[in-house]
Amino acid sequence: MIVSTGTASGKSLAYLTPAVASCLDGGTVLYLTPTKALAADQLRGLRELHLTQVRAATYDGDTPFEERTWIRRHANYVLTNPDMLHRSILPRHASWMSFFRRLRMVVVDECHGYRGVFGSHVAQILRRLRRVCVRYGSTPTFLLASATASEPGAFAMRLTGLEMDEVTVDASPKGSTTIALWEPPLTELRGEGGAPVRRTATAEAADLLADLVLADVRTLAFVRSRRGAETVALTARAKLADVAFSMPYTGTPLPATHRPETAKPTTTSPPQATHWSSDMALNNAIDNDPNNRPDHAPVNGPHHGSSHSPGQGPSSSPAIGSADRPAQGPAQGPADSPADGSAKGLAAGRCGSAPTGAPESDPAHIPSRNAPDNPLSWALPDISDLSNLPDKIAAYRAGYLAEDRRVLEKALRDGTIMGLATTNALELGVDVSGLDAVLIAGWPGTRASLWQQAGRAGRDGQDALAVLIARDDPLDTYLVHHPQALFGQPVEAIVLDPDNPYVLGPHLCAAAAEIPLTEADLPIFGPTTTDALDDLVNQGMLRARPTGWFWTRRERPTDLADIRGGGGSLIHVVESTTGRLLGSVDEPSAHTTVHTGAVYIHQGETFLVEALDLDADVALVTAANPDYSTFARDITDISILSTQRSHPLGQGTLHFGEVEVTRQVVSYLKRRFQSGEMLGDEPLDLPPRTLRTRAVWWTLPASAVTPLAEAGIDLGGAAHAAEHASIGLLPLFATCDRWDIGGVSTELHADTGLLTVFVYDGHEGGAGFAERGYARANDWLTATREAITSCECDRGCPSCIQSPKCGNGNEPLDKRGAVRLLNTLLTTA
Ligand SMILES: [Zn+2]
Ligand SMILES: [Zn+2]
Repeated sequence: MIVSTGTASGKSLAYLTPAVASCLDGGTVLYLTPTKALAADQLRGLRELHLTQVRAATYDGDTPFEERTWIRRHANYVLTNPDMLHRSILPRHASWMSFFRRLRMVVVDECHGYRGVFGSHVAQILRRLRRVCVRYGSTPTFLLASATASEPGAFAMRLTGLEMDEVTVDASPKGSTTIALWEPPLTELRGEGGAPVRRTATAEAADLLADLVLADVRTLAFVRSRRGAETVALTARAKLADVAFSMPYTGTPLPATHRPETAKPTTTSPPQATHWSSDMALNNAIDNDPNNRPDHAPVNGPHHGSSHSPGQGPSSSPAIGSADRPAQGPAQGPADSPADGSAKGLAAGRCGSAPTGAPESDPAHIPSRNAPDNPLSWALPDISDLSNLPDKIAAYRAGYLAEDRRVLEKALRDGTIMGLATTNALELGVDVSGLDAVLIAGWPGTRASLWQQAGRAGRDGQDALAVLIARDDPLDTYLVHHPQALFGQPVEAIVLDPDNPYVLGPHLCAAAAEIPLTEADLPIFGPTTTDALDDLVNQGMLRARPTGWFWTRRERPTDLADIRGGGGSLIHVVESTTGRLLGSVDEPSAHTTVHTGAVYIHQGETFLVEALDLDADVALVTAANPDYSTFARDITDISILSTQRSHPLGQGTLHFGEVEVTRQVVSYLKRRFQSGEMLGDEPLDLPPRTLRTRAVWWTLPASAVTPLAEAGIDLGGAAHAAEHASIGLLPLFATCDRWDIGGVSTELHADTGLLTVFVYDGHEGGAGFAERGYARANDWLTATREAITSCECDRGCPSCIQSPKCGNGNEPLDKRGAVRLLNTLLTTA
């Protein structure tokens, strides 16, 4: 069964009730969620039921090894994620025997997150799970919960391989939400090729966030990138710091933050100081001891014995890491055991005493007396003066260590934080209620995500505000000018492709290692299984014997599948002066996010990457405060491996097939934070990466392009411009974003001998996005043409045909030529 309804419609109750009943009845429940944070939240909810028969525990990367044994033997409600199921639970199913034997229900929560390549991996992991269940004689019910989606039953069937019923009627009470579509103004600045530059969505979001927080409006700002979220938080904090400095607290209403003349006025009424002064008094009262601050706490102090009841509020000693440890059984012991040492050391390093020679805080951004290396300073606001007003705003992202995340979530719930800038990490179901407004900086990729994010606003059925702020981007521009593309439209279907051979192969190996594969297993894994097995045998990965297929190699087969996409190893981001680990990024993203010279932001702190060492898997960073952000640019080569489908399109031909793409990050662009102004393009020396994937491409014959060339159109520039814009618009038709796909355009491609424009899936083996583009080509290219013609610029700008990741510095581009090319595709001669 799949329940597919809006935010806060009671989906949790729909699965919790039968799940808990299964436990009370002697069965076990496996609960899967894409994020650890959501599992922690669910655990909290279960504990609050105070049912001693329900022995619930999270089982994820943060679970100490000593607790794991207890969980395997005794827990009957296990909350985990697909990664743990893949790497730990399924490979060691024998040690989970008693759990699997009694398994009654598998809850797959927030399953709309399982799209594209990640979704395809999860689909195969669920098939492996079903097979292990058969082994232990259990046939659990699969109960899926999803945000609103088109055809949820069909999606659920692809995800699980099982027949599915769907529940889609949402009868929960709701207030009304006012939706604003907000286009930032063009500025005086000029970008590449003299193109006008729009004010950035993050700058507008930071202004709105600061204003709303001053007005006591509890606000969540969704920003597409992790870096963007951190920039919004940093900028909004700086604005509040300006207000705090210029307006000592007198009990009079505070002004809105300064805004450039070109910006549109906000819709908020003048804020009332009394609203937040009561909060201030409360916080001041419980935080009157200067020693009760994390930067003064003993390094290991917070990790021991702080049992943390929900009512205690943020000042009850910094209960880092201990707040969510299971209360029963395994809680004692592991906290002090050596095995926990590494994680503890890390956390202590992050929040402990400031090392000598630590970078000085920047008074312009962090005016309080917080230590600069203390990311949790906001958790203990000392609002004896206004200088701590900025601490009401924080940033959240999925990559944070667990203890940081949980303290932050709690602070938002209890009002210590009034404004939070986040990536869609929070969209994945962390239970944050009681919000008044949601800012969405940049199109979130799908209508489903838009409504999901907008649905976060509105406490207890009250009215709410949601603002979609357009980025300087073709799709965003198109949408704020075409509200009919948003309202009254069905949400998208969730796209995944479990038959992707790059996904299926590794999971067949993992399945064979779990329990040797037999003929009877083949239907579970889909129609391409037989061919895939033959390939694996030929490659020496599996051995075929009369009784079935066996994994006989020594390495772990689960290492073959990198289920979060990406692939390759993890790069650790380390501060060079202190050696502290800030976080990690996967290797492909490292080329674009932590290359030498990149600006890297962590919890509002800004770092510059001194060096990216791909051999040592380390990026060394130092604290810095540049006033610019960086964008990596790559160049791409593409060759056609096979053409699977073709059909005529206007005067040209449309194709879909398999391609090999070679990408190399060659330089990075520096852009001023607030204005988006171009500051320069710095070269980089990184190795190329090769990718086999799927692409959609169109070609135009000489008979169609020669007249255009004779009319003075730069064909290369026209094709390039059409490629950029079409990459920008494809996310309207496939559940992807422009960073999931790439493109190549050329006046004359070696494989086709014609003018050719490619758009490809940026994941090994493809993810279904290009295929969707092929299926919807007419609508897609029509919208592309519409986005270009409706842009008010003269010769092209980032809102229509320029791309921030263009490896050619957005040269050449021909805006009018792009429209002419698209015309030849969209009309027959
Ligand atoms: Zn434009
Ligand atoms: Zn380009």
